[in-house]
Amino acid sequence: MVEPKAYVSQDMKAPKLAIFDSGVCKGCNRCVEVCPADVFMPNPKKGKPPLVVYPDECDYCGCCVKDCPLRDKGAIEVNRPLYHSVHWKRKETGEHFRVGMKNPPPPNTRPPVGGWDAKA
Ligand code: SF4
Ligand code: SF4
Repeated sequence: MVEPKAYVSQDMKAPKLAIFDSGVCKGCNRCVEVCPADVFMPNPKKGKPPLVVYPDECDYCGCCVKDCPLRDKGAIEVNRPLYHSVHWKRKETGEHFRVGMKNPPPPNTRPPVGGWDAKA
């Protein structure tokens, strides 16, 4: 079977990257224009939310949400993967942290491959 090169998440079982509220989104396509990875394409139906055609290209920069004029009303939301979104909060101090990691993380002291004296 040949793998499809593109797919549209609204119509097929693909990861739900962007969640559009079709009752709020006016289909202005600002998110389509600003996405640096060309994840979306305009909906052929005027006034409807864009289509997600390349969800795997998303790098979760958030531009689509930030530039949406109706973001505060919930027109678009990016469904970030778990490793992007889980922060825990200490009840006692209110500090946000990630499991198994100090916040901010300590500097990386692991030597590069070949050791510190290795030439690039
Ligand atoms: S999600 Fe926002 S920016 Fe994108 S088409 Fe809808 S209203 Fe416009
Ligand atoms: S988060 Fe960034 S890369 Fe992903 S769809 Fe939005 S604008 Fe495109």
